Amino acid sequence: MTEVKSYVALIVQKYGGTSVADADRIKNVARRIAATKDKGNQVVVVVSAMGDTTDELIELAYRVAREPGGRELDVLLSTGEIVSSTVLAMALRDMGYKAISLSGAQAGIHTDSAHSQARIKKVESKRVVTELEKGNIVIVAGFQGVTGEMDVTTLGRGGSDITAVALAASLGASVCQIYTDVDGVYTADPRLVPDARPLVEISYEEMLELATYGAKVIHSRAVELGELYDMPILVVSSFTQNTGTLIHGGASMEVRNKVVGIARDLDVAKITIVGVPDRPGIAAAIFQPLAEAGISVDTIVQNASIDNITDLTFTVTKGDLAGAMRVVEPIAKLIEARECVSDSRLGKVSIIGTGMQNTPGYAARMFEVLSGQGINIQLITTSEIRITCIIDEARVEDAVRVLHRAFKLETGQ
Ligand code: ASP
Ligand code: MG
Repeated sequence: MTEVKSYVALIVQKYGGTSVADADRIKNVARRIAATKDKGNQVVVVVSAMGDTTDELIELAYRVAREPGGRELDVLLSTGEIVSSTVLAMALRDMGYKAISLSGAQAGIHTDSAHSQARIKKVESKRVVTELEKGNIVIVAGFQGVTGEMDVTTLGRGGSDITAVALAASLGASVCQIYTDVDGVYTADPRLVPDARPLVEISYEEMLELATYGAKVIHSRAVELGELYDMPILVVSSFTQNTGTLIHGGASMEVRNKVVGIARDLDVAKITIVGVPDRPGIAAAIFQPLAEAGISVDTIVQNASIDNITDLTFTVTKGDLAGAMRVVEPIAKLIEARECVSDSRLGKVSIIGTGMQNTPGYAARMFEVLSGQGINIQLITTSEIRITCIIDEARVEDAVRVLHRAFKLETGQ
C-alpha cells in the first residue's frame, strides 16, 4: 500500500556553516532534509560554506595579493558554497534520495555587479522548479549570484540567508527555515545572559532592528526581504529538536510586546569635529565626501550652537575609522573647524520592541538603569521601536545584563 502523504508544501531550508562543518554534520543535515521530504514536501535547500571555509579563502587571497577584491575574489569565495552543496547532494543520493546541486547562477540568482556586496535584482527560478517537478531535492549554493555579464558575485558575509529568503519568496514557499547553531532568536545573547529566553515568535520589524543593531542570528537583509514578500522565516537549531522562533507579520503580533530583546554591537567608532562654524552647507561638505569614499556613517549628532560654533559627532565601524579620518581631517581644516578627535573603543546597546511605540517612559528607564551602573551614555539614537545608547565598549556586556533584568525579559514580563 502506498503511504498517504499528510500534506504537500514547498519548504526552503537553509543550513549555516556550522551545521555543515564536516562530513558527519553533512550526513546529519541530509537526514533532516530527508525527513522533510518523507513527509511529502518539496524541498529546496540553501547551504553556506563548510565551517570557516570563507574566512580561509579570504586569508588565502590576502596572502597572494594586497587588494584581491572584486571579480576574482568573488569567484574564489563562491567555491565554498559549491563544495558544500555538491557534497550534500551526494550524501542525499547515497541515502537513496533524488537530489541535485545548483550554483547560484544555475538557480537563477541575478544580481547587480557590486562585487562582494551584490544585491539580488531578480530570481529566475525556472530551473529550480523543473528539478522539483522531476522529484529532486534541490540544493542551492548560497551567498552567490551572477551579473548580466555572467560574472559571479557574492552577496556579502552571511549572505546565504538572503539567498534562502529570496528563493523562498520567488518560489512561493510556505516557509523559509533557517537552520543554525542556536535554538532561535533569544531575548539577548545567551552566552552573555544565562537566563535569556528563546522567543516563540517575533515580528519582522522587531527582528530587523535586532539584526541591524547586533543580533547575529540572521542577516538583516534577509529579514527585510521576508517582510517585503511576507515570507515567514523560522530560525531553528540543526542540532536540537527545539521549535525555534518564527519571524512573521501574523495576527498574534497585535499583542504588542513591550521590550522583546536587547542587542549589542561592539563595532563602533566615533569622530567629533570640534568648533564647526554653524552655517548652511557644512554638513553636506563633510558627509558627501564620506559617502563618495564608500564609508557608511551611522549616528550623527550636532550640538546646539553657541555663537554660531557647534560640534558635530558621528559614528562609523571601527574598520572605517582610519579612512573616515583621512577624509574628514582636510575638510575640517578647510571649513576652519578647531579639531577632529576620534574614539574607537565604543559599543552600542539597544532595547527593541513594538510595545515601546507611543508608550512613554522606556527611554527614561533605560537611562536610569545604565546610570545606576555608572555607565556613561555618549550618544543616543532611536527609532519608533528601538532605543540605542552608545557607551564605552568595556561596559556593553554589563549593560546588556542589567537591562535584561530591568525589563524582566527572563520571565517574559
Ligand atoms: N559563507 C559565507 C560567509 O561565511 C556566506 C554565509 O555563511 O552565509 O559569509
Ligand atoms: Mg558563514
